[in-house]
Amino acid sequence: MNSFSSVLLARYDQNKRDLPWRRTKDPYLIWLSEIILQQTRVVQGLAYYNCFSERFPTPRALAEAPEDEVLKYWQGLGYYSRARNLHAAAKSMQGEFPRTYEGVRALKGVGDYTAAAVCSIAYDMPYAVVDGNVYRVLARVFGIDTPIDSPAGKKQFTELAQKLLDKKRPGDYNQAIMDFGATVCTPAAPQCLVCPLAAVCRALADGRVEQLPVKAQKTKISNRYFHYIYVKQGENTWLHKRGAGDVWQNLYEPPLVETKTADGDYGTAPAHRRWFGRKRALLRVAPVKHVLSHRVIYADLSEITLPPSAPVPEDFMAIPVRELKKYAVSRLVQKLLEKAGVL
Ligand code: SF4
Repeated sequence: MNSFSSVLLARYDQNKRDLPWRRTKDPYLIWLSEIILQQTRVVQGLAYYNCFSERFPTPRALAEAPEDEVLKYWQGLGYYSRARNLHAAAKSMQGEFPRTYEGVRALKGVGDYTAAAVCSIAYDMPYAVVDGNVYRVLARVFGIDTPIDSPAGKKQFTELAQKLLDKKRPGDYNQAIMDFGATVCTPAAPQCLVCPLAAVCRALADGRVEQLPVKAQKTKISNRYFHYIYVKQGENTWLHKRGAGDVWQNLYEPPLVETKTADGDYGTAPAHRRWFGRKRALLRVAPVKHVLSHRVIYADLSEITLPPSAPVPEDFMAIPVRELKKYAVSRLVQKLLEKAGVL
């Protein structure tokens, strides 16, 4: 075992948190935890993991559930394509989780990282994970300035990670390096003063901790402006199921009009005219800012009262307001409906 991995493993053994997915070797449950924990903090992911694994304890239970129910269990976690992929992957398993790396890698929504994590943790297979934490730790400890988002960087870091992997305890080693990156060698304010790798860390010796890892491209962030209209039609309100090709596929939401600018007049937009004619909605919730990975959404919510005879447009459904809670909605829609006092 090399000294790099022995330091990380010793630290991991001492500080290891007792988490339910660390007490099992069931590949299905480990896969579930890995998907939930992508882009989600452990504290938040834990509650979802517990509910999800209780309701869907096996691939078969998940495969047989309706998609609306799976999305409802996922509500609030964000990145809903993860839930849809999870469901599609469970359906493809025919009751049994794959037993080879290739089989796991072929599951919908599983990339190199997740396949390596699941196979090393559940099956003790020697596959090193390379995620954001691993890139950061390796770039700093070994002083590597190849951009991590370039093909050359991906190759270099993957090869190094594979070389450093502890072949006897691959699952623990992978968790140890990711845990180290998440708690000690963090993106901002890493704890170099108490770091067990400080003596061998190249970036620390060269005063380059802040500059590593290097990224070639900056992520472009775009702004979007959403105007939701909450319909009051007797006891009912209108909901629409979002389609493919945009955020929140298959989640529900009230009628939405998007404008190109913050001060765009959504009341004159063709969709608004089609649904409500010249009738204007009253603003109930002033714009809130909602940050996603590649975009910032500014959204407000207005209310419109319609007579019971007003026709419900084809792609909407009228549902009793008291049943709103049953539908999976994005966190943004949940926030707006709560602020408006209807959820
Ligand atoms: S010394 Fe600092 S930069 Fe180097 S590995 Fe430790 S925490 Fe990271």
